[in-house]
Amino acid sequence: MQAIDGRCSCGSIQYHYPAPALQVVACHCGLCRRMTGAALSVYVVVKARALNFTRGQDRLKPYAVTNDTTRHFCADCGTPIFNQNAQKYAGLAMLYLGTVTGHEQLSPAMALYCESRLPWLQLPESCQQFQQAPERPAK
Ligand SMILES: [Zn+2]
Ligand SMILES: [Zn+2]
Repeated sequence: MQAIDGRCSCGSIQYHYPAPALQVVACHCGLCRRMTGAALSVYVVVKARALNFTRGQDRLKPYAVTNDTTRHFCADCGTPIFNQNAQKYAGLAMLYLGTVTGHEQLSPAMALYCESRLPWLQLPESCQQFQQAPERPAK
């Protein structure tokens, strides 16, 4: 996959990123589970400044999940689009995998916070597993 395109469920928001993802990361942490309602989260990591909203940027709403982490979601349909963590992962945007067009072709290269992993959920061994998180998931 070269460039990345994606959208929310209702189509109000569309984005384009002109390069391949820096990294695809799965997160097993309890905060991600709580804020998405899903068993795990998978993020497509890109450079925030190159992420371009081609439609509906004004429909994008921020929510401060913690002091450091902001989740941006569609005000019309509620789809989470991306997270940012200015402290830990400055300059990066973590796109939600399911919003990416063609996400069936992507799989996580690393999994974070495996210490919190649901016991019935096991990713393939090709996915590098961390008990917590490395300093930066993408250089
Ligand atoms: Zn929407
Ligand atoms: Zn997490």
